Amino acid sequence: MAFKNKSEIKNLYLAGASTLSHGVSGATSSGINAAANILNVHPSEVLSTKEDQGLRVYDAEDSSTWPKWVHTKRKTKARRVEGLIEK
Ligand SMILES: Cc1cc2nc3c(=O)[nH]c(=O)nc-3n(C[C@H](O)[C@H](O)[C@H](O)COP(=O)(O)OP(=O)(O)OC[C@H]3O[C@@H](n4cnc5c(N)ncnc54)[C@H](O)[C@@H]3O)c2cc1C
Repeated sequence: MAFKNKSEIKNLYLAGASTLSHGVSGATSSGINAAANILNVHPSEVLSTKEDQGLRVYDAEDSSTWPKWVHTKRKTKARRVEGLIEK
């Protein structure tokens, strides 16, 4: 029932939990498969690194729009993680 990586619209490819499989792992492999489809290579080739390649990661969300309680909770969690790392 899920969407395929390659859509019926020319040059429109889909990735994410609504495609191949759900969850972080499913969404990740759907991205790899979408990239492989676009490049017309085997998915394993997408995972190989080349010296002239770079990866840019952009935030999907604008954190300034989040409510104050979310910022407070994130800070508290970050402090807890830092405490764990120090131990
Ligand atoms: C509470 C919870 C716990 C989970 N725990 C786990 C877990 O332990 N392990 C696991 O594998 N999976 C877990 N999942 C599932 C996992 O988070 C998702 O399957 C995964 O994040 C899907 O990734 P995605 O990139 O497809 O979508 P998303 O991570 O949902 O990303 C979609 C992005 O698109 C943005 N967006 C939406 N509409 C628009 C628009 N019109 N314009 C611009 N941007 C837009 C959204 O803001 C969002 O940032 C959990 C999910 C939830 C809700």
